Amino acid sequence: MIKQFFSLLKRYIKPYRKYLVWTVILNFMSQWLNVFSFMTLIPILNILFKIDTVAYEYIPMDIHHLNKDILINNGYYFINQIISTHGEFFTLIMMGLALIGMTLLKTAGYFASAAVMVPLRTGVVRDIRIQVYDKVLRLPMSFFSEERKGDIIARMSADVSVVENSITSSIDMLIRNPITILICFITLFTISWKLTLFVLVVLPLAGWVMGAVSRKLKSQSVLVQSQWGDIVSQLDETLGGLRIIKAFIAERKMLSRFTKINNAFRDSVNAMAIRQSSAHPMSEFLGTCVIIIVLWFGGSLILGQYSTIDASIFIFYLVILYSIINPLKEFSKASYNVPLGLASMDRIDMILKAENPIKEPENPLPLNDFQEELEFRNVSFSYIEGRKVLKNINLKVPKGKTIALVGQSGSGKSTMVDLVPRYHDIKEGELLIDGKNIKDVSISSLRALIGNVNQEAILFNDTFYNNITFGVENATMEQVIEAAKIANAHDFIMETEKGYDTLIGDRGGRLSGGQRQRISIARAILKNPPILILDEATSALDTESERLVQSALERLMKSRTTIAIAHRLSTIKNADEICVLYEGEIIERGTHDELLALDGYYKRLNEMQNL
Ligand code: ADP
Ligand code: MG
Repeated sequence: MIKQFFSLLKRYIKPYRKYLVWTVILNFMSQWLNVFSFMTLIPILNILFKIDTVAYEYIPMDIHHLNKDILINNGYYFINQIISTHGEFFTLIMMGLALIGMTLLKTAGYFASAAVMVPLRTGVVRDIRIQVYDKVLRLPMSFFSEERKGDIIARMSADVSVVENSITSSIDMLIRNPITILICFITLFTISWKLTLFVLVVLPLAGWVMGAVSRKLKSQSVLVQSQWGDIVSQLDETLGGLRIIKAFIAERKMLSRFTKINNAFRDSVNAMAIRQSSAHPMSEFLGTCVIIIVLWFGGSLILGQYSTIDASIFIFYLVILYSIINPLKEFSKASYNVPLGLASMDRIDMILKAENPIKEPENPLPLNDFQEELEFRNVSFSYIEGRKVLKNINLKVPKGKTIALVGQSGSGKSTMVDLVPRYHDIKEGELLIDGKNIKDVSISSLRALIGNVNQEAILFNDTFYNNITFGVENATMEQVIEAAKIANAHDFIMETEKGYDTLIGDRGGRLSGGQRQRISIARAILKNPPILILDEATSALDTESERLVQSALERLMKSRTTIAIAHRLSTIKNADEICVLYEGEIIERGTHDELLALDGYYKRLNEMQNL
């Protein structure tokens, strides 16, 4: 666990090293101040209990002749001087003021050392979050199946906060406490090595008892976080499916499903939280036990015949010992918290370390333009091992031509066009663009050549302008308006309040389906790609908006190479070649008229639609 923790730190802490250095320096400073401020307790106690009556002689100090005994002796000498000239009460006030002054410095040091860690903590969390987001953008779409979406959102939000609350907040403690413990032990050994050796036997025993409790926590936390992922999934699903839930009056059913998973979540949280809340009382109890045991042993040293330490020094000793108990307690808290954070980090790493099966070639061939043709050569594809969705597809798409794919739903049309921009990689056969295998050119240069218009227009909660210029940098307003005009979108954009600066709402929720589609066409027009992929671009629309969208599409397809998937055959009548897919195979191909003449599947499809 400790190894895991440090490798995690190594991964993220590099940019923040200067904060670490500062916090170490500040902690050292304030810890020594802590010890010295409590040291003033000794003379204070001596004065109060009128213990010290020995007459001290001043011993001259120089650098070569300086040790603990001389310092202590001279300290007492000066205090006695003050007492004899100004009285005991005045001395008490002076000592108290010295204590206040040092405590002020000490606490200022604590504050500074904690403040210096804040940017580190927040920085690490920010870096993790951005890293996960970046990875999410890179992973192939197949990674994010519907049922995993909620889980991924949970990992990005809840798990990152757990890491923040447990690990990063443990970091400053892990720096401060060893320093505290080190300095305190130096002090303790200086006061009485015998007593301190005894302490060293008792403390680890207490520590071992604490550790035994925390071991199970990590596995409990894994369970809790994954259940939280389920909850987010269900919420996401519900928000997306509200329309259907209401239509089928399934509220009660959904509620009971949600209640069930929430109860399970609560049970696991209960188990974990109860275990967790035993940490504090237990360490408190053990801490007091340690102090009492030491008190016995120390008492026997003082009360015994050969008393080696004064009572006031022993009290100082106990105070310092008590300052060790607290950091040790915090260590035990960290031994609860860090496993929680590590469990969450494991879940985050599932995303961060997920291998991307769509690999960039090491030495990509240049691809700047589309010159001749796109070719599917003997392509077979399956999502799941053993179930082929595409079988031996051979298809040439020459530059400037329009190829249409038709077939019943589930026949593999979308899959086929998804292969071109490498949303999935093929294992059998090849996809060639101008004779180059698409796996040999860089993914970005390949995708730059392709424009997409899909059944569902994907828009972002932003202005019309930004949605249209989405994939294009430095587009001028004239170009955007030009594109919108070609896409039959200009008129309805201008009717809105702020024109192109109007916000379109979440996923374009304020627009009709046809309007959304025309925005996504305007976007494709502006990108101006040589290859165009239309996946049922009009099939979700009513006839009136279909007409508008269709005319926009026809303008877009002009002078471009197009692969069009069509639900309604009327929209692809003029295609140069029509391929009929049936269960992953091209069973008929030709122009509209040729296919009708063939009197096969296509003709039957056509007749069904004309009815
Ligand atoms: P079409 O677009 O012609 O309706 P698709 O290409 O979407 O057909 O789907 C073809 C087949 O592949 C279907 O049987 C579908 O169930 C399956 N399929 C599609 N996407 C996935 C996926 N991400 N994982 C597994 N199977 C899939
Ligand atoms: Mg489809």
